[in-house]
Amino acid sequence: MSDATLQAVRGMNDILPDEAELWLWFEEVARDWLHSYGYRNIRMPLVEPTALFKRAIGEVTDIVEKEMYSFEDSLNGDELTLRPEGTASCVRAVLQHNLLYNAPQRLYYSGQMFRHERPQKGRYRQFHQFGVEALGFAGPDIDAEQILMCARLWQKLGLRDVSLQLNTLGDSAARHSHRAKLIAYFGKHQESLDADATRRLHSNPLRILDSKNPAMQDLIAAAPKLMDELGDDALRHFDEVQAILKRHDVPYRINPRLVRGLDYYNRTVFEWETTQLGAQGAICAGGRYDGLVELIGGKPAPATGFAMGVERLLALLHENGMALPRQEVDVYVVHQGELAGRLAGKVAELMRDNNLRVLLHCGGGSFKSQMKRADASGARAAVIIGDDEAQANEVSVKPMQGGEQKRVSVENLTATVNQFIK
Ligand code: ATP
Ligand code: MG
Repeated sequence: MSDATLQAVRGMNDILPDEAELWLWFEEVARDWLHSYGYRNIRMPLVEPTALFKRAIGEVTDIVEKEMYSFEDSLNGDELTLRPEGTASCVRAVLQHNLLYNAPQRLYYSGQMFRHERPQKGRYRQFHQFGVEALGFAGPDIDAEQILMCARLWQKLGLRDVSLQLNTLGDSAARHSHRAKLIAYFGKHQESLDADATRRLHSNPLRILDSKNPAMQDLIAAAPKLMDELGDDALRHFDEVQAILKRHDVPYRINPRLVRGLDYYNRTVFEWETTQLGAQGAICAGGRYDGLVELIGGKPAPATGFAMGVERLLALLHENGMALPRQEVDVYVVHQGELAGRLAGKVAELMRDNNLRVLLHCGGGSFKSQMKRADASGARAAVIIGDDEAQANEVSVKPMQGGEQKRVSVENLTATVNQFIK
């Protein structure tokens, strides 16, 4: 294509039919898995008021500072944003429709997310997540259940090289004293901070721990640990999450640097990663966010959730040699002549009534060229109709793998085809 403006937006991918088959398969596996834990589907708009994300994700974060697709609605001036993640919208929807306070909710959603990042392997500007949120549950049992769920999905997908990192962010008192210690510690080493870290020193020092800058890693490794500030309740919660994981033989590593730099995140945080995808190794991340419901304007309610990146998971399946058989066609219908054409349309619908996957030849052409299409389609049988057959209300059925062609009445067609494609 010569006109560059007629290409997809940079960082946003087309998913072509061969690849889309893997997506369909994955989505089905994921839905079955979510339903097996009692999660119910919820669907939110792709566009939300910008203020929702500013408030829910926080002003001093990579996402809000530099990754959001925000724009003004040219018709009424509303400030809008393409969703960069789903948690904020999900909580907004639950509050708006008053779903939460009678019974806790286990919810999931899936679909496109948008972040204006530098596109590279495993990092796109439009990407897809499955998001899972449990609202109204306070105990460590649900945190552990969500982690066990993930382990089960990896097993269903045949993924072996994924490992779990776990941390706790404690409660707000612990975070406040930790925050003060971080500011003092990084403040003493200001000459070693990069621009992001300098900016965050007072606004969001916890986030400095999350920096990917190699030059700052030694400094970060020696920083004060939140783990040393934990109160009794948070410690007990964390111990119980770990005990459940151990009972279910799910291995994990505690990583004190695993953080979410926002005040409403608390206690459990976790991330699943793989070494098979280079720098973009995080496939799933989540944790507890007991402060968010109140922040978005609801009565306080505990919550915990996670999101997984579909592109990265599917890339991992490809790395592991996952290949799907092509979407199958049972029957290709070839026909020539006006009467035959009418009968062809009728028998194609009849076979579909009987749950067969049928390609009806369209566009005319000789029997020979139509049979070539039948071959290329991968169909296991061809139904052949000439005017001769049509006059007698009969059709010929030919097994594509070789074997005798058989002429049958329309009535006996489905049974014969079923015999041939077995
Ligand atoms: P990263 O550290 O890789 O930027 P993140 O912390 O921004 O990830 P989350 O907001 O926790 O990611 O999103 C959950 C998951 O969504 C990630 O673990 C990843 O698999 C996927 N993800 C996030 N951003 C992208 C992106 N730009 N392209 C593809 N997948 C993404
Ligand atoms: Mg990111």
